[in-house]
Amino acid sequence: MNLNGIDFDTYLKNYPDKNGYFGKYGGAYIPDDLKKAMDEITEAYFTICKSSKFIGELRRIRREFQGRPTPISYLERLSNSLGHVQLYVKREDLNHSGAHKLNHCMGEALLAKYMGKKKVIAETGAGQHGVALATAAAYFGLECDIYMGAVDIRKQAPNVARMKILGANVIEVNEGLATLKEAVDAAFAAYTKEYKDCIYCIGSVVGPHPFPMMVRDFQSVVGIEAREQFIEMTGELPDAVVACVGGGSNAMGMFSGFLNDPVDIYGVEPLGRGPALGDHAASLTYGTEGVMHGFNSIMLKDENGDPAPVYSVASGLDYPSSGPEHAFLRDCGRVKYDVVTDDETIDAFFTLSRMEGIIPAIESSHAVAYAIKLAKEMDKGSVLINLSGRGDKDMDYIIEKYGIR
Ligand SMILES: *Cc1c(COP(=O)(O)O)cnc(C)c1O
Repeated sequence: MNLNGIDFDTYLKNYPDKNGYFGKYGGAYIPDDLKKAMDEITEAYFTICKSSKFIGELRRIRREFQGRPTPISYLERLSNSLGHVQLYVKREDLNHSGAHKLNHCMGEALLAKYMGKKKVIAETGAGQHGVALATAAAYFGLECDIYMGAVDIRKQAPNVARMKILGANVIEVNEGLATLKEAVDAAFAAYTKEYKDCIYCIGSVVGPHPFPMMVRDFQSVVGIEAREQFIEMTGELPDAVVACVGGGSNAMGMFSGFLNDPVDIYGVEPLGRGPALGDHAASLTYGTEGVMHGFNSIMLKDENGDPAPVYSVASGLDYPSSGPEHAFLRDCGRVKYDVVTDDETIDAFFTLSRMEGIIPAIESSHAVAYAIKLAKEMDKGSVLINLSGRGDKDMDYIIEKYGIR
């Protein structure tokens, strides 16, 4: 498929370019020390991703440890209630540890092991990335330092307990507002000192090159499996594919399988309480170009041009930017980005739970909510949703805030 001068037959090989750019987005806007560390990771990744030993080991891990391939489920009762459109979900909620994040964390930790590193480090906000990375570190016998704001540590007690049980060091950050931003700064500062012995594991398709590319490649297993499974189940391709977008890793994994197909692709951003700055985290819908956290993309800025405060009911989606590849796919028109509100999301959370026996993560519920809207507008066809994770982590919050509906 060719669109606006981009050949999607060869797209995944040609993007990003060797400096990590998807068009004008991406790159590595970091100090020289860190640039050297990132170059080392890039070089190791390019060697290793062609090695049959590395690929074979990752395949074995996915099968024997993660429980892949995850299935696709047809949502029969929900589809029937909506009319003539068939809805399907790719079950990343059934991936070990309950979400898609382990797909890239296992890849990153395997890379760390091949590079002879002893430790992985990262920051975490709600704790989901920290738990996935702690899981991977335990599997490979690597040390694991997770930087987390003191405020988040108090809010996310179950995930803090999980990380500690898995053997990770949870390092409390008390600077500033003591949340995600300060945790990122502390983790980067530590990495600058320790990069000889460890690698920094970014939790989405964001950050400096090579992470947007590498995390996409590790997540692409989702799209590759889904395309094959869907054709096997139905004999054809879906008409539309839908995924929620925070940083954008589950979406990029799913989308990469369908970019060269005649399939409509939708990325769903959190509109939260509404379109006023501070009430949402819909960066691709409302943001402008800028550099943050080491990469150029579309971001939400405050009056000083710094990353704006953002909000979403889904703590995994409240990031003021999105991966550079999403910005690129938006500009070239291959993927359409749209929004759903908190309220629509919570409705979808209960609908999927009640009608299908699947409790989705609040993040994933954004994609479900959008697919339901889309199905109501279509008179026939099929929609494949990436169900990025399970909702067990969200149940206490939902019951406290919304009650049982
Ligand atoms: C972290 C998370 C997300 C958001 O991250 P992306 O990089 O945008 O995929 C979505 N769903 C779940 C279940 C998550 O844990």
